[in-house]
Amino acid sequence: MSKINVAKYSGFCFGVKRAVDMALEESRKSDNVIMLGDIVHNEHVVKKIDDAGVKVMNELSTEDPGTLLLRAHGAVPGVYEEAKKMNYNVVDATCPLVIEIHEIVKKMEEEKYRIVVIGDYGHDEVVGISGQVKDAIVIAKPEDVKDKLPKMSRKLGVVVQSTQNIDNARKIISELVPYCQELKFVDTICKPTKLYQAEIRKMPHENDVMIIVGSFTSANTKRLAEISTELNSRSYQVESAQDLERGWFDNADNIGVTAGASTPDWIIEEVVEKIKELTG
Ligand code: SF4
Repeated sequence: MSKINVAKYSGFCFGVKRAVDMALEESRKSDNVIMLGDIVHNEHVVKKIDDAGVKVMNELSTEDPGTLLLRAHGAVPGVYEEAKKMNYNVVDATCPLVIEIHEIVKKMEEEKYRIVVIGDYGHDEVVGISGQVKDAIVIAKPEDVKDKLPKMSRKLGVVVQSTQNIDNARKIISELVPYCQELKFVDTICKPTKLYQAEIRKMPHENDVMIIVGSFTSANTKRLAEISTELNSRSYQVESAQDLERGWFDNADNIGVTAGASTPDWIIEEVVEKIKELTG
């Protein structure tokens, strides 16, 4: 029988857990709670929050304003101000570690740095961070640097989306160096992400097969799957137990299981049970 090794650091990070708990708590207090977008990038969690009665809206409405829950990824300052003006009760579930990044870019802007955010284009957290300052430049890949920074800047202040892969950030920074006289880099990849990523750099070497559990829309799950695949070609990302295939586990003595920060524990448990069934 195969041995199943579940990552010590996997599933909900504290920021996501806190936001989900806050959403459920607000839903018990009021039947008029809204969010501007899904709580996290995971369909199962989205359904749970929807079942609790929290609605997802595209924009704020002056008709019957209730509670607006700001999600773990944070929001641009305008959303908060607009909601207050419209008489919403604003409950801020932005992860404290994301708020720290907001404070860092604001301070660097005051110190006359041109802000660069290393992160995924259009990702809610990246939009929220860039929105804290006047004209932040977002860069996702090293090869994009020359287009995003056509001319020299005197001072560049660089931060990173909390769930980025540090290797990608390092490559982008070395591309940025020729474009400025001074570069200040604050490593804002959060501690939970670093723990997940440190483990995923070891586990694919120690296991014959790696299973990464999480939604295909989740940036940090995608990152874990990418690192795992680089180190072990028998790496598979699944959204839930139903996606597992028996053939993946042929001749596998050790099977590693990890999950992104937006994957709930119950989904990881179901995946482990199903692997036991398929390999038993
Ligand atoms: S990944 Fe990190 S920054 Fe993002 S919500 Fe989780 S703990 Fe907070």
